[in-house]
Amino acid sequence: MKRVYNFNPGPATLPLEVLQEAQAEFLNFADSGMSIIEISHRSKPYEKVHNQAKADILELMGLGDDYEVLFIQGGASLQFAMIPLNFATKEKPGSYAVTGTFAKNAHKEANNLGVATLAASTESENFRRIPRQDELKISPDSAYFHICNNNTIFGTEYHYIPDTKNIPLFADMSSDMLSRPMDFKKFSLIYAGVQKNLGPAGVVVVVAKKSLLEKSPENLPTMLKYETFYKKNSLYNTPPAFSIYMVGKVAAWIKNCGGLEEMAKRNSAKAKILYDAIDESNGFYKGHAEKDSRSFMNVTFRLPSEDLEKKFVAEALEKNLSGVKGHRSVGGMRASIYNAMPIEGVETLADFMKNFAKNN
Ligand SMILES: *Cc1c(COP(=O)(O)O)cnc(C)c1O
Repeated sequence: MKRVYNFNPGPATLPLEVLQEAQAEFLNFADSGMSIIEISHRSKPYEKVHNQAKADILELMGLGDDYEVLFIQGGASLQFAMIPLNFATKEKPGSYAVTGTFAKNAHKEANNLGVATLAASTESENFRRIPRQDELKISPDSAYFHICNNNTIFGTEYHYIPDTKNIPLFADMSSDMLSRPMDFKKFSLIYAGVQKNLGPAGVVVVVAKKSLLEKSPENLPTMLKYETFYKKNSLYNTPPAFSIYMVGKVAAWIKNCGGLEEMAKRNSAKAKILYDAIDESNGFYKGHAEKDSRSFMNVTFRLPSEDLEKKFVAEALEKNLSGVKGHRSVGGMRASIYNAMPIEGVETLADFMKNFAKNN
């Protein structure tokens, strides 16, 4: 069987054990004689999958009964619109820190509705860093303060939780959800498109304080109200059952590995190997992110020329290192090293980087 080390940013690598488990039970799920994508979402076996996934996510995050997990379609990109539609008004707008492409898209959706303010932006520095606490201008009349916790394209990540002075903190964690323990109680709403670190595309996990979800503006379409998902256990209409089933398996895998502490240990060890390879290359490799903003999940770097970058991608592939080409807006390379990337993959890439620098 051919499997490469898959450094793609998303859809991204998933734990091999999870894929094998899904394969083994695919044709006859829970002795139903049907696959998970053929059974009713109102059936007992599906209900168990759905509720167990929710419970495991809350347990991993150390959150209690005052939080709810929702499963919503439309990707993280629909959350960019649902959030201002549900929570912001002209009098009480949403406040945004713009730290990359997705943070900018989130701000844009609220801005188009006329309900956004800008608390900070690092765009003039090509998003090389996360703003410091003292740079955040969160206006006191804000409905919420929105951050993108890990900037997938630029390879930067928050290493502190912003102090919002009691304004609800919302975070897009699409590319670092369940990658390390945090004081999640400081957040009022967290969401993640699961195709980076948690499963196949098709569902967004939203973890929010129940008190926020009880009432949505009445004039909104039913499927754009958080209230609908909350009151119907995310089963108002047919949910993306396969994606939720896989997210549940990934959450169980994380629990079996030792939870978020163990993920953090593995992820920081992996990131260190690659950042060391960059820093010890005598300037051959140049990291995009400033050191104190470096992401544990997406390692971005450039080579001395675009020709060498093309050569790097081609030769990496010969070593079964796939998906290392960076996003077109940054150029260079990006190695995405989510939870499921084994340390052997990162060691192979670091060895390849050292040899490539020597030979070129
Ligand atoms: C990929 C990504 C998105 C966009 O997700 P979709 O599910 O494709 O809409 C948003 N935010 C972050 C941080 C991402 O990495």
